[in-house]
Amino acid sequence: MRLVTFQSNSTNEPKAGIVLGDRVAALTAFGPFPETLLELIRQGPAQCQRLRQAAAVAPAGSPHLEDVTLLAPIPRPTKNIICLGLNYLAHADESARATGAEVELPEYPIIFTKAPTSVNDPYADIIFDPKLTEKLDWEVELGVIVGITGKGVSPERALEHVFGYTVINDVSARDLQRRHSQFFLGKSLDGACPMGPWIVTADEIPDPQNLKLRTYVNDVMKQNGSTADQIFSVAETISVLSRGMTLEAGDVIATGTPEGVGFARIPPEYLRDGDVVTCEIEGIGRIQNRVVAA
Ligand code: MG
Repeated sequence: MRLVTFQSNSTNEPKAGIVLGDRVAALTAFGPFPETLLELIRQGPAQCQRLRQAAAVAPAGSPHLEDVTLLAPIPRPTKNIICLGLNYLAHADESARATGAEVELPEYPIIFTKAPTSVNDPYADIIFDPKLTEKLDWEVELGVIVGITGKGVSPERALEHVFGYTVINDVSARDLQRRHSQFFLGKSLDGACPMGPWIVTADEIPDPQNLKLRTYVNDVMKQNGSTADQIFSVAETISVLSRGMTLEAGDVIATGTPEGVGFARIPPEYLRDGDVVTCEIEGIGRIQNRVVAA
């Protein structure tokens, strides 16, 4: 299933929906299903299975996909988005080269977070203050939505805890990221986490370690990687995170970015007012955001 949060027009409350062909239908059109994806996720796999069986065909009169506004599937996660740093070897290499550091293969994943207020819609503008940052950068990432709450999850069972997958752009203000020592502020600007356009449920992505992911800026390809090159797989990441911290249904994990980010380019490149940045993952979808200095 491709599950969305959508508005049929700007005055309507956002609703959880499902994409069926080229149409979108609210989950509530199929029975007593919740109004938000977060609630659907929390109701567990049995409810999701009921939805899968009920929602086969869009009811007559359902709007076309292009006639609705898609929002981030989870517009306001209840926690920070949990992120991995340097989870692709070639990106670890380019980062080390650009910062003059030694390349080291991490023994443990680098974990940081983005504030829930950074979440942005899949096609909305990324508005930034050019007085605050001059080094806004892109990072396409496979986003993982936790479906089943767990602690001490083994790598072997970890994928059973995944509800689905989405596309994330981990937009990063490199100057703030470095200036403040920890990544948090530079990763958490409002609008710096475009996400979507939907959650593809895990049953449709049997192997999350074989997905091509790409970034384009103004139609020029900048990143072209594969999750096959992740240092820590989705399963290992869930296992490591959950050793002492409960991962809850609805938590969002951004699993790191491949090579080709702006700061490591020669010369470095950053996002400018008017740029259009597109992130896509094969088998999931594509998000596209215009960058606006304001
Ligand atoms: Mg990242």
